[in-house]
Formats: sequence, C-alpha cells, structure tokens
Amino acid sequence: MLLTESEQAGVTLKTHCHISQVDFDGGYQLQTSLGEIKAASLVVASGGLSVPTLGGSAFGYQLAEQFGHSLVPLRAALVPFTFTDGFKLLSETLSGVSVRARVHVGNQEFLENILFTHRGLSGPAVLQISSYWREGKEVVIDLLPEKNCTEFLAEQKQQQPKAMLRTVLSQLLPRKLVLALESLWWAEQAEKPLAELPDLLLADIADNIHRWRLKPSGTEGYRTAEVTLGGVDTATVSSKTMESHKQPGLYFVGEVLDVTGHLGGFNFQWAWASGVAAGQVA
Ligand SMILES: Cc1cc2nc3c(=O)[nH]c(=O)nc-3n(C[C@H](O)[C@H](O)[C@H](O)COP(=O)(O)OP(=O)(O)OC[C@H]3O[C@@H](n4cnc5c(N)ncnc54)[C@H](O)[C@@H]3O)c2cc1C
Repeated sequence: MLLTESEQAGVTLKTHCHISQVDFDGGYQLQTSLGEIKAASLVVASGGLSVPTLGGSAFGYQLAEQFGHSLVPLRAALVPFTFTDGFKLLSETLSGVSVRARVHVGNQEFLENILFTHRGLSGPAVLQISSYWREGKEVVIDLLPEKNCTEFLAEQKQQQPKAMLRTVLSQLLPRKLVLALESLWWAEQAEKPLAELPDLLLADIADNIHRWRLKPSGTEGYRTAEVTLGGVDTATVSSKTMESHKQPGLYFVGEVLDVTGHLGGFNFQWAWASGVAAGQVA
C-alpha cells in the first residue's frame, strides 16, 4: 500500500491508500498508485472500517469530510460481544455451544441462534442485536423462547418428582449449558430431586431462563464486525442518484453512507443497488 498525501482547500488527506484526490474545474483529478486520472464525476465506494485486513478503511469518510459532509458517528456493528465479568469464564467453558434464543436490547429483539465463544457471545441473534446495543446497556436473553418454562417445571415436578432439575432441563437445552446454569442459579440444591425444590425456587429459575440479564463490556470491534454503523449523512446525498448535495459530480454508494442492514444480504443489496443508481447518472 502507498502512503499518499494531498492538500485541498486547507484539508490534508493522509491515509495509507492507493487514491488521493483534489478537484479541478469541472471534474476530479485522482492521484493513484497507478498514476493520475481525471474524471468528470467521482463515485466513492470505499466501504466502512470493518475488518481492516479485508480492506476496511477510513478513506471515504475522510474524503466526505474534505468536501464538507458531516458523518453520523461510526461504530462496529453485526459484531460479537465481549465480557470481562464472571460471564467471561462461563462463556469460555461453553465455547461452541449454540442455542436458539430471543435476545433483547430495550424494545429491539431477535429470535435466532446464539453462540457461546471463548470471548463472550456471538451467533446471528447476538450479531443482529449488537447494532442496537450501546456501552453500559444490558442484553436480556430468553433461552427457551418457545416454551413456558414455569409451566414445564411445574409439570415435571408432578410427573417426575424423583428426577433432578438438570435432567429435565436437559430435555430442552444442551446439557453443558444446563450444568453451567446450575452452577449459577441452584448450586446448593443441585443434588436434590425436583420434589424437594420449592415452587418459588423453580419459578425463579424459570424466570432467569427466560430473562438472563448480561452486561457486555464491549464488542470485538472492527476486527470482526461485519458492518460499520453510521457514515456519510444520507440527508446530504440524493436518494435517487446518490450525488452529493454539497459537491456536484461527487457520489457516495454502499457502506460509506449511513445505511446499515440486518444480517441476510441486505448490506450487499444496498451496496449493489446504490452503486447501480449512481452508475446510471455519474
Ligand atoms: C466478514 C464479513 C462478512 C459479511 N457478510 C455479509 C453478508 O453475508 N451479507 C451482507 O449483506 N453483507 C455482509 N457483509 C457486509 C458487506 O460486505 C458490505 O456491507 C459491503 O461489501 C459494502 O460494499 P461497499 O462496496 O460499500 O464496500 P466494500 O465491499 O467494503 O468495498 C470497498 C473497497 O474499497 C477498497 N478501498 C478502501 N479504501 C481504499 C483506498 N484508499 N484505496 C483503494 N481502495 C480502497 C477496499 O479495499 C474494498 O475493496 C460482510 C462484511 C464482512 C466484513
């Protein structure tokens, strides 16, 4: 990669990139590692900050600011959570275990798989909710989203009074996860059969299973994030052509704009669709 530097209108653009740019009357002049290019219009499709080893770069954001565009604050999204509290040890033990769960942050929720990792939590439901999470917020996980656990445990107590709680819960959840939950929520009663466990305790455990509250310390950041939230403010770009309202002939497409989709191909779709829209007029 080349280190290039250019000055334009008092702004210094310094980045390890192939392209630097200055504008000239009626068009753009690019200084690239392959030489100088002049063009009537310039389409910025340089993506976001996600995964620098795959080409993630701040180039498009710097260029946008150089031409007077404001940026909606950037943050890593569609990204696994990390933990520094007691949950870190638990997630290490459970690394590789995956369950279908409903994950909430505030009013937002996703029902998909979660995956315990040696750093914390990942899996589609966690990646999705990470786009809505902010530092200091709790994540609430329902480990049995399609079952009423309170009713299930009450039935099991009637039908199998001599069974252990871990045995009946293992019908619904991976045994490794049940053993980890046992160490958290009923360690002192772990060796008692269901008949000896008070209804109140069973109701509390069911409640914890439906509302497991965790506080991530952060995310894995741009190193593994699939997208970058924020970017060039869409209010300053035509929604039909993607042309800048501030600079004629300058276009922004794809992830460099403040447009972020859920998992499922929506980010690719946006990149392609906005690219086509700009390509028809640029
Ligand atoms: C690991 C991973 C998995 C993903 N999975 C999905 C998925 O399943 N579905 C989905 O919809 N989205 C997915 N995404 C997101 C999707 O890849 C992006 O939203 C989309 O590619 C953005 O397209 P873009 O054209 O705006 O930018 P990009 O595809 O990022 O392309 C930008 C290009 O510009 C180049 N560039 C940057 N700066 C410079 C410079 N200064 N000089 C020269 N070149 C430069 C970069 O190297 C890169 O090649 C994933 C992303 C990652 C990282």
